[in-house]
Amino acid sequence: MGDEKYTGILIFAEQKNGIIHKVSYELLNKGRELANQLMAPVYCIVVGPKSMDLQELIYRGADEVYYVGNDFLNLPEELIYTENIINLIKRIKPEICLFGATSFGRSLAPRIAGNLKTGLTADCTELKIDEDGKLIQIRPAFSDNILAHIKTKTYPQMATIRYKEFSEAERDINRSGKIIKVDPILVEKTGVKILRELECMENDISEAEVVVAGGRGIKTPEDFKILYELAELLGGVVGASRAVVEENYISSQHQVGYSGNRVKPKLYIACGISGAPQHLAGMREAERIVAINSDPSAPIFNIADIGIVGDLYEVIPTLIEKLKKKEV
Ligand code: FAD
Repeated sequence: MGDEKYTGILIFAEQKNGIIHKVSYELLNKGRELANQLMAPVYCIVVGPKSMDLQELIYRGADEVYYVGNDFLNLPEELIYTENIINLIKRIKPEICLFGATSFGRSLAPRIAGNLKTGLTADCTELKIDEDGKLIQIRPAFSDNILAHIKTKTYPQMATIRYKEFSEAERDINRSGKIIKVDPILVEKTGVKILRELECMENDISEAEVVVAGGRGIKTPEDFKILYELAELLGGVVGASRAVVEENYISSQHQVGYSGNRVKPKLYIACGISGAPQHLAGMREAERIVAINSDPSAPIFNIADIGIVGDLYEVIPTLIEKLKKKEV
């Protein structure tokens, strides 16, 4: 049996400039399902600017939203957020805490788990409740070869869950819940000073409807320009395999796969990518997969809806030309 001192599912609802990240609605979907099994409430914690619309979290399944609002919290800053979240977890005493495995969530959750001296399972792909009411945290391990089922002995049981792993909770405008305002803890000396914010494409690639991705079949960093051209014509973004990220052909923000971004576009065009399991882990749920590869036995063709056996340096320019002439 679980520890009776702890009850409920707590979801950290990440925001940026006052806008809730969609992963929070996905966590609410799963969190609500687990809470129904445990007959327990669903809590959300939001740390963010002074004014935010939080009703949506209640429509999507939260019973209580704890809101730490202050304009100095607008920018995600791990050390300040950590203090404020730990304070709330100690007050709420949830049995389960869920965070999105976004860049920020991946940086925040371990700090909190470490401080609370509890376990944390990163990058879960599924969550279940066992017969004793404990959380089973499921995640791929050993390069996707096994699915590990992990239980945490300590409380709260903490996990990060990948973006786009679950569908978003449905919206029910008849749901009611409480919004509880909490005074922020002002941490003056964190030793961190934010000088400027860089645009991050993590969201762009995860949200994109079209991804044109390049792998080791691309011979030089400059050659990525044909992929950019194709992506632009299709209204999409450029992705990459880890092989070319490691070669410094393109930044890691573009990496698709097990240790990169997970994408679910309408169209994924894999150019010169062999189709290693770790790459497929990030894109196999694309609605339509087109593979361009010179090797007819490349594993990518096993999951492609359309396979083009050929040299990408011939196929892509032809495609670009036809798109420009509106022939495809
Ligand atoms: P290759 O496997 O070398 O394939 C290149 C392909 O290009 C070949 O199939 C070849 O036939 C084709 N080609 C060559 N020239 C042309 C041409 N002119 N025209 C058309 N086709 C051509 N990988 C990821 O991608 N993402 C991850 O997140 C990731 N995480 C990993 C995590 C772990 C723990 C480990 C162990 C590995 C991970 N990998 C990841 C690496 C993965 O195993 C592969 O090594 C990698 O995906 C291979 O990249 P690639 O397909 O670009 O290269």
